[in-house]
Amino acid sequence: MKEHVWPLTAGINRSREFARKKLATHTANVGLICGHGCLYCSSRSVLRCHRAFKVLGLNPFDEGYCIVDPQTPLRLMNDVHKTYASDVIMFCSTSDGWAPEAQSLNLGEQCLRVLLEHGRSVVRVLTKNAAVTGAYDLMARYRNRVRLGLSLTAPKSAEALMKVLEPHASTISERFAALKEAHERGLRTYGMFCPCLPGIADSPEALEEMFAAAVECGTEDIWLEPVNARGKGIVRCAEALAQAGFTAAAHAADAVRHEAAWNEYAINLVKAAQVVAVGSGVIDRLHVLLYANRFTSDAQETLNTDPRGIVWLKKQ
Ligand code: SF4
Repeated sequence: MKEHVWPLTAGINRSREFARKKLATHTANVGLICGHGCLYCSSRSVLRCHRAFKVLGLNPFDEGYCIVDPQTPLRLMNDVHKTYASDVIMFCSTSDGWAPEAQSLNLGEQCLRVLLEHGRSVVRVLTKNAAVTGAYDLMARYRNRVRLGLSLTAPKSAEALMKVLEPHASTISERFAALKEAHERGLRTYGMFCPCLPGIADSPEALEEMFAAAVECGTEDIWLEPVNARGKGIVRCAEALAQAGFTAAAHAADAVRHEAAWNEYAINLVKAAQVVAVGSGVIDRLHVLLYANRFTSDAQETLNTDPRGIVWLKKQ
């Protein structure tokens, strides 16, 4: 993985998008392109017009590189006094503070230290790397100001498939163990099942396994989302799964590129999640993130007959 450095300007950004998702009021990031290299990652399309790509001579959709800002703790220090106790800062939203390149600079813990020791806000940590355990002592000192999530994007039984799709992230087992350790140490946790890929994390059985894991880790809230099938990410996922010999999952990923199939997959996913959440006793903690513009009006109507847990979002 080739590492590029780019000095970002803003430190802590207000985010209406994350407020609508009920996740945070602000976001903070350690770079532009994350070295975990998840094939479905939407950060490349969200950030594709950033000046850094032109200056560095990079195609935002190419793989094999990451872009990190080693000065992130200083950027956060410049902004942290502007936030309030009522704010919630998402760390991170389009990158990962414990991705390999961020780990080698110890950015995750340094940034967290700035946000916790110099600020007053709640910090919602989100990562796909079990190396976050190294910051647990720090988090424990600010227990009521930290919510920790390690993305559980699939059941442990689908770990081999996810290693293809999330090549440089910790395995699902490692993330689960890290989240469980956090819970056992008294840290406040949340569940993030985003995205629930078709053929991997959308069946009732898969969701039962994922919800059971989240409950075991004491998660206070659970966010869940269908995959975005309009970008290049789903194509990359289907190709990689096919190459690795996971033919059924590859076909399932490929199929949802068509509008009717995607609507059916998303409706079935939401309904299955609601049933499993009720069975697991966590329906009141469920937040299903749905972009209205991706659904047909018929599909929206179907979903609105049982809106439990659904958070409708405007166009991404
Ligand atoms: S960990 Fe998150 S930000 Fe990093 S590549 Fe994966 S989805 Fe993208």
